[in-house]
Amino acid sequence: MDPEDEIEGFRVVVESLKNLGVKYIFGVVGIPVVEIGVAAQQIGIQYVGMRNEQAACYAAQAIGYLTGWPAACLAVSGPGVLHCIAGLANAKENCWPMILIGGSSETRQEGVGAFQEWPQIESVRVSTKYCGRPAQVDLIPRQLERAVRTSVYGRPGPCYIDLPGDMLNMRVKYKDVYFNPLPPPPPKMLPEDRNMMEAIELLKSAKRPLIIIGKGAAYGRAEMELRALTRELNIPVLPTPMGKGVIPDDSDLVISAARSKVLEEADVVLLVGARLNWMLHFGTPPRWSSTVKVIQMDICAEEMHNSIHSSVALQGDIQVTTARLNILKGNFKFSNSSPWWIELRKKCRENGASTHELCMDETVPLNYYAAFNQFSQTIPDSTYIVSEGANTMDIGRTMLKNNLPRHRLDAGTFGTMGVGLGFAIATALYARDNDPGARVLCVEGDSAFGFSGMEIETIARYNLPIVIVIINNSGIYSGFDKELYSELVSDENICIASPPTSLLPGVQYEKMMDMVGMTGVTCSKPQEIKTAVKNALAVNRATIINIMINPMAGRKAQQHEWLTKSKL
Ligand code: ADP
Ligand code: MG
Repeated sequence: MDPEDEIEGFRVVVESLKNLGVKYIFGVVGIPVVEIGVAAQQIGIQYVGMRNEQAACYAAQAIGYLTGWPAACLAVSGPGVLHCIAGLANAKENCWPMILIGGSSETRQEGVGAFQEWPQIESVRVSTKYCGRPAQVDLIPRQLERAVRTSVYGRPGPCYIDLPGDMLNMRVKYKDVYFNPLPPPPPKMLPEDRNMMEAIELLKSAKRPLIIIGKGAAYGRAEMELRALTRELNIPVLPTPMGKGVIPDDSDLVISAARSKVLEEADVVLLVGARLNWMLHFGTPPRWSSTVKVIQMDICAEEMHNSIHSSVALQGDIQVTTARLNILKGNFKFSNSSPWWIELRKKCRENGASTHELCMDETVPLNYYAAFNQFSQTIPDSTYIVSEGANTMDIGRTMLKNNLPRHRLDAGTFGTMGVGLGFAIATALYARDNDPGARVLCVEGDSAFGFSGMEIETIARYNLPIVIVIINNSGIYSGFDKELYSELVSDENICIASPPTSLLPGVQYEKMMDMVGMTGVTCSKPQEIKTAVKNALAVNRATIINIMINPMAGRKAQQHEWLTKSKL
């Protein structure tokens, strides 16, 4: 561009995003952001038009998690930005980077009821790490740079930039705009060696040590370092749901099957990129020992000593901290023949046997375990598993293996339903561009699928070969079969009689593929399920496999009542 040429605000936005390394924009266009979408494509930023801003926001944050650099979500003023709040909150709670770019109403009409006028910055502030609005067109790049940088520096999270419609169409001389350069990748800090030595001494003194690996370790790309450290220490490893795969689920070190026991009995826990929130039962009794000593490894100082006081707080980047820890630890190795290892292996075998029983019960309609068992063994390691739902997600997590990091995306810390299709769309694009041949398997409860079901059209439009498996029990938590349901609602006011957890029995979700000129299948028998998943993974096309299971099927009986409390 000639320095004397004029450039519109919306072009400043996309040029700036390009400079800042933003490769994808997910959004829904309308006034005043249509031009941003068009201009983005003109300069080679991939634009993905979604059907709801919420799903677009989920997609953008999945790119942030998978790549360590934010993608953008683009939304129109007022309702568009407000639809993104659930997405922003989900990104914030999961510590995933993304930026939201929201159009807003004309500044000159503020306060007199402009089209879609709303205090957008105030509305999104608590759901973001940073939000800003440039004061004039030439300051757009500065704000965007701050948003991109803030989203990935320190604890990652979402940022918002508000762009009034009049500013987007204003022109300035190209030479008057300073395009802030790409910020370098986040600095990787190390804790002091003194603290690292304390951690090592504590681990050495442990009789029942445990290493918990969270999604912060996956995000921090620390798999090589953690695989080396855990192998050498020979300490049992418990991954959190999205921490799965940092250490392969197939590794002998992973004792997920003895989760309750290790949490209850561990005396020293090295907590790597995971928070002691509800997912880890706050690190407190009765789920944890009251005398447990915790070594926390996290990038975020404010996270230290949360819920319980940690014995050692290692504030630093997981990748470099783990590498340093491995050097400092010398040749200490926890004994394979320790009573702890012997007990844990025994517990894993016992728990494995009770799951096996449920898997083998092939009475149709199937229970969850038997349904998963038809395809869990045949999924290639390279497959990205996206999952949401209640039982579908919880049981699926134990039945579907992850041997590679960042290959599981689910409802996460915030327990958000509706993330699945947005995550799957972003993951399929990521795989297409960075990991060719890897497939996306999106395992959805029927209720969870409903939240963003119309994104099927997006999947078809962009030709993304996502295999959607719906584990259909006709309800939230559980439902009813056709006969029982019609009995329940007959001769009554249906809004009084239909249980709040029920959905219509036997919905043929697979037919949504017909709607976009593709095909889906429904199945309920073991062999049908096996064949359907095998065939779907063999061809490079999107499909829906609607697996009708027993509407009354539930979870395996849990040792403790509180294990299921949050689930119903
Ligand atoms: P999980 O849900 O798997 O338990 P959480 O989301 O609760 O994981 O915790 C992830 C933690 O990882 C957060 O506290 C976050 O600050 C931290 N984190 C993220 N990236 C890094 C990194 N590169 N180095 C260290 N800690 C990180
Ligand atoms: Mg259901």
